[in-house]
Amino acid sequence: MNRSMYAKVIVDVPARPTNRAFDYSIPEHMRELVAVGSRVGVPFGPRTVQGFVVELHPGTQLDPSKVKPIKTAMDLQPPLTEELVKLASWISRTYLCHEVTALQAMIPGALKAKYERHVKAAEPGASGLLPLLLPGQEEILAYVRRQETVELQSLMDKFADDAGLVKGLLDEGFLVEIQMVKDRMSAKKALTVFAPEDPSQLEAWLGELPAKAAKQREVLEHFIRQPEPMKLTDLLTELNLSAGSVKALADRGWLRIEEVEVQRDPYASRTFKPTSPLPLTPEQAGVYERIRDAVLSERQRVFLLHGVTGSGKTEVYLQSIQTCLDQGREAIVLVPEIALTPQMVERFKGRFGNRVAVLHSRLSHGERYDEWRKIARREVSVVIGARSAIFAPFTKIGLIIIDEEHETTYKQEESPKYHARDVAIARAAEHGASVILGSATPSLESMYRTTNEAAAAATPERPAFELLSMPSRVEGRPLPPVRIIDMREELKSGNRSMFSRDLYKAIEERLHKKEQIVLLLNRRGYATFVMCRTCGYVADCPHCDISLTYHQSSRAIRCHYCGYAERELSLCPDCGSEHIRHFGTGTQRVEEELAKLFPGIRVIRMDVDTTTEKGSHEKWLTMFGNRQADVLLGTQMVAKGLDFPYVTLVGALAADSVLNLPDFRAAERTFQLLTQVAGRAGRHQLPGEVYVQTYTPEHYSIVSASRHDYMGFMRKEMMMRRLHNYPPFHRLVLITLSHEQVQLLIRSGEVLAARLKELAEDRRDQGGELEVLGPVASPISRIKDRYRFQCMIKYRGDQDIAQIVEQAASVLEDAVKTQKLTVSIDVDPQLLM
Ligand code: ADP
Ligand code: ZN
Ligand code: ZN
Repeated sequence: MNRSMYAKVIVDVPARPTNRAFDYSIPEHMRELVAVGSRVGVPFGPRTVQGFVVELHPGTQLDPSKVKPIKTAMDLQPPLTEELVKLASWISRTYLCHEVTALQAMIPGALKAKYERHVKAAEPGASGLLPLLLPGQEEILAYVRRQETVELQSLMDKFADDAGLVKGLLDEGFLVEIQMVKDRMSAKKALTVFAPEDPSQLEAWLGELPAKAAKQREVLEHFIRQPEPMKLTDLLTELNLSAGSVKALADRGWLRIEEVEVQRDPYASRTFKPTSPLPLTPEQAGVYERIRDAVLSERQRVFLLHGVTGSGKTEVYLQSIQTCLDQGREAIVLVPEIALTPQMVERFKGRFGNRVAVLHSRLSHGERYDEWRKIARREVSVVIGARSAIFAPFTKIGLIIIDEEHETTYKQEESPKYHARDVAIARAAEHGASVILGSATPSLESMYRTTNEAAAAATPERPAFELLSMPSRVEGRPLPPVRIIDMREELKSGNRSMFSRDLYKAIEERLHKKEQIVLLLNRRGYATFVMCRTCGYVADCPHCDISLTYHQSSRAIRCHYCGYAERELSLCPDCGSEHIRHFGTGTQRVEEELAKLFPGIRVIRMDVDTTTEKGSHEKWLTMFGNRQADVLLGTQMVAKGLDFPYVTLVGALAADSVLNLPDFRAAERTFQLLTQVAGRAGRHQLPGEVYVQTYTPEHYSIVSASRHDYMGFMRKEMMMRRLHNYPPFHRLVLITLSHEQVQLLIRSGEVLAARLKELAEDRRDQGGELEVLGPVASPISRIKDRYRFQCMIKYRGDQDIAQIVEQAASVLEDAVKTQKLTVSIDVDPQLLM
């Protein structure tokens, strides 16, 4: 056991001067509890604050009279592993954020919430252990039994000198933890039916039942076959009966119904068809073998798997994971936004059953906590989830898979502004694990790292990637032909509809053949704002530099940045005109037009308005999968990962909407989006077809996408990026300043830029390539009444950029402290707003 006397603690005070560890002594009775990765309460100035233990040491260098003791130990089991603690320090250095912010990002929300953890005594015999209790433990256990449940903190306070004994009771299963988090979550209970201890009783009772009681008979027979307790609702569904018959049996005293705490498994009510490994195609087999060898080698290797849509990447993932599990190691699978990819979860659950935990943002705090505990207790060995699942507290990771690696959701937009891809690579180094980055349209950053140029500059922190490709679809299915439609021509010939004549005909034909259609309309493509047709007034947020968005469901106009909302307008506030139009989300208008053009057409619309409710994505997709609709219409969310056999037509209604964004990645995003959505067509027996409507049909991103020519696009785009010193050739750091007063902001921006330029000059003298742009107003120049200015650093090669940024930012320290200036740093930014 740990007998160190001192702990280094990162305190939860996210500010520059506190971004380091402080020493505390560990009181005798806490020594068994305080471990690296556990949370403690420590005195800090006049207050007590929370902190994370990051190191234990004997304290030989310390003056004991100057070190304060830890006040409380908050965890019996540290929520973070030593490796994660180390990772937090790496994140803090790499992304220039406070270490405590990185640590906080790694623990589940439920642990951060105001929560109470309770314990109760285990059922006798539940642990299967002989009751070998230490003297003091009997007393503690008896105390808990008398109270039924006890809040953990109060138990630890009561037996403060024996906290180690409490921990022992928990570790060995004499006490079990039940969580009761105030308001945000509560333990979920379910009525459960229990058979008698001696199941042979049931046979006897069966004879006693009146002949008419057929239903009750069925229930008894069920428990004769399967005496295990069963959830009442499950029993009723399985036997297809009402609660009355079970209740009748309980009234006779033959069965017992009790409320029991259940673990919330969001997928519990679902059954997953078990699947077995498919025989791999030669292309898949080649790729799989490379990955298998890497996994078996137990060294860090990073693969970029470029596989066209429908090439069978998922099967490769599944079999690679199997290899990793066979080795006794664990796997993490990241998907962009798991609520959008229920089919992915289905495939993983189908193959690995309850060895899979699922983590995503649509789960409640309680559900997430339950899934997280399964990981922490090693009850599962695969976790599938969105970005933050990269922090799963596994200890023997063999494989990390990032599907659709090019997606922007892998970069967190608030601090810590980490990229899951880089975190995955860092964890893989610690675990000797392999990483698979999979995509039909790999990001230029990742692609670049497969080149010789990048390999020559590789470092252990930034290893080179190995390229694997699967250029064809399984079973030789063709990629669908893509037709580009020039919408300018449509307009010239008098077609003002949002559907070109060709797309109109194609839709008509599919309806006739009872095949299905996917229509994509990028959200930004059509107006969702409020405009006066008389004077041109547009409703803007009074606090942010952005127009308000109309939400039909709530009949309100709302700001996407600060949440400011007003009722919809009936008169123009400027000129009083009644001709004020609320342009609904673009998809709403398309839906209306479809209904007009094709009477009786069945449309499922998927966008932010129709998918706020929990489980709604799955509901819509299931309906579409059951062919209860002809058209699936939506924003980007319909472009991703869906696999429906009857979809033979895909239409992108406004292909250039993304192209016009003020972002150097606009062409790349357009290519990715079109390729993804085109990939939804003709994935099975029926051949598919794709129509792309655009006002810029000659743009290389649209032309390449229509030819399924990733390599062609990539080469052209690489050239553009090299020409303009953009990533992946140069790296970027974006520094955004914000303040309520423009004057102070401009002054601060100039001071910062001047200092940065000085430092850049020094670097250049030493041969480093470094350029400073700005200060300029940010593309969104005001949010929540705060103005925003930015500076951009462009640099090349392996430079200690952290040092430069820190040095430069220190000139603003005063303004930050005394005038509430905010400085936000984004390393490798994905969005330049
Ligand atoms: P991707 O993720 O690369 O777009 P999927 O993994 O969704 O492609 O695979 C496309 C389809 O091919 C799926 O329906 C999948 O079940 C099927 N498939 C994958 N591998 C094989 C195989 N080896 N043999 C037969 N069908 C396969
Ligand atoms: Zn007006
Ligand atoms: Zn606002």
